Amino acid sequence: MNLVSIVIPLYNERDNIAALFEELVLVADGANLNAEFVLVDDGSSDDTVSRVREIAQGDERFKLVELRRNFGQTAAMQAGFDFAEGEIVVTLDGDLQNDPAEIPKMIKKLNEGYDLVAGWRRDRQDAFISRKLPSMLANRLISKTTSVKLHDYGCTLKVMTRDIAKNINLYGEMHRFIPALAAELGANIAEVPVNHRPRIHGTSKYGISRTFRVLLDLLTVKFFLGFSTRPLHMFGGLGMICGGLGVGLLTYLAYEKLFLDLPLAGRPLLLLTTMLILIGLQFVCFGLLAEILVRTHFESQNKKIYAVRNVFQGNRGSAAKKIRANQG
Ligand code: UDP
Ligand code: MG
Repeated sequence: MNLVSIVIPLYNERDNIAALFEELVLVADGANLNAEFVLVDDGSSDDTVSRVREIAQGDERFKLVELRRNFGQTAAMQAGFDFAEGEIVVTLDGDLQNDPAEIPKMIKKLNEGYDLVAGWRRDRQDAFISRKLPSMLANRLISKTTSVKLHDYGCTLKVMTRDIAKNINLYGEMHRFIPALAAELGANIAEVPVNHRPRIHGTSKYGISRTFRVLLDLLTVKFFLGFSTRPLHMFGGLGMICGGLGVGLLTYLAYEKLFLDLPLAGRPLLLLTTMLILIGLQFVCFGLLAEILVRTHFESQNKKIYAVRNVFQGNRGSAAKKIRANQG
């Protein structure tokens, strides 16, 4: 049976470890999963590490990746992806808010032919003003801006194929954009409602300021999905709009000066014209520089501008044989 890697970021979760392990083992054994648990300690300052080591010692399915300092949940998840060896990769919060019992159901859904199955905390157990409301707005906005329509981007509980997990690169706090990044790779995505529980031990690591960072990240994702291989189309487009306006105004001013003999000096319009033309030129140059960067980015790392799902190879001679058989 395919190996399932369950990736869990942990940051100061000392009081959740014991219950988490128990639930994981129960679910894995209950559903007869061939599982490995990839726990990533994100530089906890409490005794999360020693607790994990103590409990995990006797079970070879557990792997603990200890980061040197607190790098953030996204980096911890990326580390988990890098160390995961399974054909199927599951991500899960370590604070017991996600219910591991949902994993078998989601794997089943994945096996129906999806590349990523996202959890939807339909009945989310968090504060309304600081959590649910901003998250609701963010989900709407992200759905509108990216091509992936989901109810809940923020739910860490996700199940994906190895191919997807290994081919998306996370930066900053982008783990919530995994579905959008996966869609960019051509993934088939499904969403299933999952159980969500209130946090009992420890505290949440985020506050309301996360909302603003999500908005900025959305800008990055939008740009990357749309223009990462053709930045000149965006910057050049802006440049042409500014420059075009500038040239139009310049023509108008020249007409006034040459034919109507109106003075040019002291007119704000002239200043605007000059600025528009300069900014337009700047945008175009910027776009060209970005094109050079993109090529360096892809070619220096041997990255491809496409993603292959599968390569089918026909059998040598079989088509010819079939034709001959049909004729004969
Ligand atoms: N987490 C992490 N590094 C961080 C912050 C959080 O690894 O810098 C982990 C945390 O231990 C938990 C998960 O990410 O397992 C989600 O964090 P939290 O519960 O604080 O987020 P919330 O559920 O409030 O959105
Ligand atoms: Mg939580």
